[in-house]
Amino acid sequence: MTIRTRVAPSPTGDPHLGTAYIALFNYCFAKQQGGEFVLRIEDTDQVRSTPESEQAIMDSLRWLGLEWDHGPDVGGEFGPYRQSERSELYKKYAHQLVDDGKAFYCFATSEELDQMREQQMAEGLRPKYDGRGLKLTEDEIKANLAADKPYVIRMNIPSAGSFKFNDYLRGEIEIPWENVDMQVLLKADGFPTYFLANVVDDHHMQISHIFRGEEWINSAPKLLKLYEDFGWQAPVLGHLPLLRNPDKSKLSKRKNPTSINYYKEMGYLPEAVLNYLGRMGWSMPDEREKFTLAEMIEHFDMKRVSLGGPVFDVDKLSWLNGMWIRENLTDSELMQRFVDWKFNSDFFGKVLPEAKTRINTLSDMVDLAGHFVGGIPTYDPALLTAGKADEDVIRQALQFFIWQLEGLRSFEKPEIFAIAKAVATFHELKIKDFLEPIFVAITGKTSSTSVLDAMEILGSDLSRARLRVALAHLGISKKQAKNIERAYREYPAA
Ligand code: GLU
Repeated sequence: MTIRTRVAPSPTGDPHLGTAYIALFNYCFAKQQGGEFVLRIEDTDQVRSTPESEQAIMDSLRWLGLEWDHGPDVGGEFGPYRQSERSELYKKYAHQLVDDGKAFYCFATSEELDQMREQQMAEGLRPKYDGRGLKLTEDEIKANLAADKPYVIRMNIPSAGSFKFNDYLRGEIEIPWENVDMQVLLKADGFPTYFLANVVDDHHMQISHIFRGEEWINSAPKLLKLYEDFGWQAPVLGHLPLLRNPDKSKLSKRKNPTSINYYKEMGYLPEAVLNYLGRMGWSMPDEREKFTLAEMIEHFDMKRVSLGGPVFDVDKLSWLNGMWIRENLTDSELMQRFVDWKFNSDFFGKVLPEAKTRINTLSDMVDLAGHFVGGIPTYDPALLTAGKADEDVIRQALQFFIWQLEGLRSFEKPEIFAIAKAVATFHELKIKDFLEPIFVAITGKTSSTSVLDAMEILGSDLSRARLRVALAHLGISKKQAKNIERAYREYPAA
C-alpha cells in the first residue's frame, strides 16, 4: 500500500503557520517512507473561501519548499483536488447513507431549531439537536420532498455508549456519544460539510494516514463512524499538538503574526521557518537545533512527537534565522536572497516614484524610504497620540481598521482608503486626524512618503503587523479589548 498523507486547508484567510506545520509533518512522514503528499483544498464554505486565499496558501507552501505530488494545480490520479469541483460525489454519498439508514433528512427551519435550543436552555439542558428528523414517517418525508421543502442530511449518531479509537500519537481515546451531535453532512444549499467531504475525499484519494491538529479530536468519532457507515477502511488517524503563543494560549494573530507571508516579507529564510516548525514538538535524535528538510525527512519519526503544546517564539525563530544566514549562505547566495526579497527592480520600481519627488540626492533615499525595506519601525509612541484625536478613540479606530483590513481581498490604495475613511467617520474623526497615527505606525515618522501608497507596496501582512505594534504601544487592557469587541459588533459590515 502506498503511504499517502495530505494537508487539507480551507482557503479562508491568510496562509497560516499552523497549515505549514501540519503540512510539514505529513510531508516528512510520507516522504520518509517513499510515499506521496497531497494538497487538497477544502473550499466547501462558499461564503468564506476565496481564490486569493487558495493561491496564497499554495504560494507559501511552495516558498517553504513543501511540494505536493497531487493537488489542484498539478492534478493527480484521484482528482479534482478542490472540493468545490466534487459536489456531485458528496451528494451521491449523502443520499446513499440515507438509503442505508445511516443518515436522515431533517426539514426543520432555522427558526424551529432556535426555538428548540431556547427551550432546552430554559429547561437547563445543553442545547443539542434533538433528533426530530428521525421521527418523521416515510410518508411525511415523501410529502416534504415532493413539496420541495429545503432539507439537510444529518448523521445518525447513537444516543448512548461511547466511541473508542486509537490515536496514532495519543493511544486510545474514548468519547461518549452523548457529546457528539447529529452532524449535518449535506447542507440545504446542497454543499457538504467538512465531515462528509473530508471522509469521501480521504477515501477516494487513498489517503493512508491523517495527521491533523488536535482541535479536531472531538470530531474523530464522527469521522471514523462515517468510514464504518460506508463500509470503508479508515486511514490511520493522529492528532498533532496545537502551536502556542509564548503565554501558552493557542497561536493567534492577536499575539503573534500567524501568516506565512509576514515571515516572508520580514526576510526570514524559508529554510529557517521550516526548520523552526520542525522543532515544534519534535527534535532530531541528536537534539541539534539546525537541520534541513532533507535531514528532517531522513530522521523523522512521528512517534517522537511530544504532545505538550509547542511554543512558537518569534525571537527564537529570529535567532535560528540568523544562524542560517551566517552558516549556510555564501556571500553571493546571501546577495541573491536580498535580490529575490526586495532589492530588485520590481520592488524598487514601486518605491522609486514615491521617493523621486522628495529626494535631492540619491543618499536621501535611506532616510526617506527606509520603511519600505525595514521590519517594524521604532519611534516614540507618544507620536501616535500627538494629533488632535483622543487616545481611546485612536485605540478603537486602529483596532477596527486592522480587523477591516484582515478581510480585504485586494490590498490596494482605494480600498485601504475607503476602509480608513469609513472607520474615521464611524468614530467622528476627520480622516486627516486618523491618518496621522496610521502614518506613524507605518513609516515610523511624522513625515515621509504617502502612507496609503506605502501600505499598498508593503502589503497586507507587514502593514497590519505595524498597526498591531502601534496598538500594543498604546496599550490595551482586557476591559478595553472587550469594549472594543462589543463596539465592533455594531460596526456596519462592508
Ligand atoms: N479543512 C480542515 C482545516 O482547515 C482540514 C482538517 C483535516 O486535516 O482533516 O483544518
